[in-house]
Amino acid sequence: MVNRIAVIGGGTMGRGIAYSAALAGFTVTLQDISEEAAFRARDYIEGLLTKSVEKGYIQSEQRELALNNLSYKTELKDAVNNADLVIEAALEIMEIKIDIFKKLDEWAPAHAILATNTSTMSPTEIAASTKRPEQCVAMHFFNPVHRMKLIEIIKGLDTSEATVEIVKRVAEKMGKDTVEVNEFPGFVTSRMNCLIGNEAMNMLMEGVASAEDIDKALKLGLNHPMGPLELADLVGLDSRLRNMEYLYQNLGEKYRPSPMLVKYVKAGRLGRKSGRGFYDYSEK
Ligand code: NAD
Repeated sequence: MVNRIAVIGGGTMGRGIAYSAALAGFTVTLQDISEEAAFRARDYIEGLLTKSVEKGYIQSEQRELALNNLSYKTELKDAVNNADLVIEAALEIMEIKIDIFKKLDEWAPAHAILATNTSTMSPTEIAASTKRPEQCVAMHFFNPVHRMKLIEIIKGLDTSEATVEIVKRVAEKMGKDTVEVNEFPGFVTSRMNCLIGNEAMNMLMEGVASAEDIDKALKLGLNHPMGPLELADLVGLDSRLRNMEYLYQNLGEKYRPSPMLVKYVKAGRLGRKSGRGFYDYSEK
């Protein structure tokens, strides 16, 4: 049974996962190697809890409960030594994930499940760095976590059915729905979404239409809730580029990152998190 969750990485996704888990009644420790990132995550979570009370989405007692459930750490060992479930949401870089999982295997209790929030990468490869591959799985959350209903559960080669059942119950307690996916690069959602986003960037580069009109066309014409370019800005263009590079290496030419995406990342235009991507957020 899962009571205590450790979330590794307090960026866009880690903070959202910690928020949703704490609100669902789990005891949550959020860990980030950067103290500044951990503080930013805490400010974000506390701000979101307050806003959610003001808007009437949650009661003030739920906010208090969530605040009591949360703690923040920079030392990985301290964060995971009594966890029942660890959810890793650090950068989409295989070497970093493998390094974290080796340490998790050493420091997390023997019964703990080790999950990665990777968008594209192989949970089998990540699990192979541990002595408990049957307790390793991918739990792919969506952005923003508090609003998005789905968690894609990706089974690696050795992931046990018991592990899948436990993480499904955790997802349910967090108010989420799940789909089960057998490992393949990009799973279901990222493989599809990265392709649409990349095509939109290539269209923008080719001068087919403005960013606003490309997004409007997909929203009003194809019934997408968000345009692909505004979605990429929300995801973070650096994260999206890492996803594209991984899919390009593993699935081939169709996934070659748009030169426009590469150029924007080089310029430091990372989307909402840097204030500018395909759109300008500096005034908002
Ligand atoms: P991000 O860049 O916003 O945050 C990453 C955080 O991890 C940073 O705060 C960084 O300080 C921290 N970090 C880096 N190395 C670390 C380490 N060794 N130990 C602990 N913390 C470390 O990234 P993100 O967008 O939140 O993405 C995190 C993961 O979630 C990636 O695997 C990504 O592919 C996946 N993901 C992202 C989205 C999205 O929309 N951004 C959606 C689904 C899944």
